[in-house]
Amino acid sequence: MVDAWLLDAMSAYNADSLVNKDGYRGIIQIPGATLEQIIHWTLESLPDEILIGLDADNKRPHLPEVDHAFQGHEHEAGKFAGEGYVLGDATIVNRGDSFSVHHVPEEWTDGIFTESRGPRGGRFIHWLHTHPNAVAIPSKQDAEAAQYTLGVDMILGVQFSPSGPLPWYEDAEGLRRQLQPENVAPVKEKRGWGRWKNRSERPVLGIAPTGHRIHGLELISFHKSGAGINVIFVDDDNLPYGWPFEINN
Ligand SMILES: [Zn+2]
Repeated sequence: MVDAWLLDAMSAYNADSLVNKDGYRGIIQIPGATLEQIIHWTLESLPDEILIGLDADNKRPHLPEVDHAFQGHEHEAGKFAGEGYVLGDATIVNRGDSFSVHHVPEEWTDGIFTESRGPRGGRFIHWLHTHPNAVAIPSKQDAEAAQYTLGVDMILGVQFSPSGPLPWYEDAEGLRRQLQPENVAPVKEKRGWGRWKNRSERPVLGIAPTGHRIHGLELISFHKSGAGINVIFVDDDNLPYGWPFEINN
């Protein structure tokens, strides 16, 4: 069962995905339970980034009415492998810093074909990696690693506290997609001996199983050509959270 705050966040994200559909060349559907699992691994692995491999679940084709609603004017059919199927189970493949996370250990790559399959060994169709306390915008290394991706690449940015040695890094150019409930009230954080510290009124979206307070989440997906891929979070029935949406278009 996915946490209530995350359900709200995914519904709000999906509504944005629908409104902005004309800016995207393709669609990817991620189960909510998969996102929740990935957020958990992300926080457990701090301060490292993690690399996650994902395949398409051939038993879960997109619902035609959902594809119809979310495909915009720029949609290109047949753009990537695994298209039209909800993502399957996630697997942690590697952890490390922003450079080493893309260079997968040999037991994952079986030592051969690395030249033709890229530094990640090309074992999965889709890849997701995390940006702990940094925005979800691809770096140069990210764009290079994506050149070997058959499906799509995803980046999950998580803003959390206590942040440890990593302050929030926001100085990047690009299109960002926030993943948070529509109405988040600022929450006063209790500090020290029961005193309220007024200046630390950052919104708290939810508490991770690791005890970290989550202040912001963002997720983007892109094709190796650089084209943006629209993300939709779906439930066990392959319906987007928040469906149906009260939007005229
Ligand atoms: Zn990155």
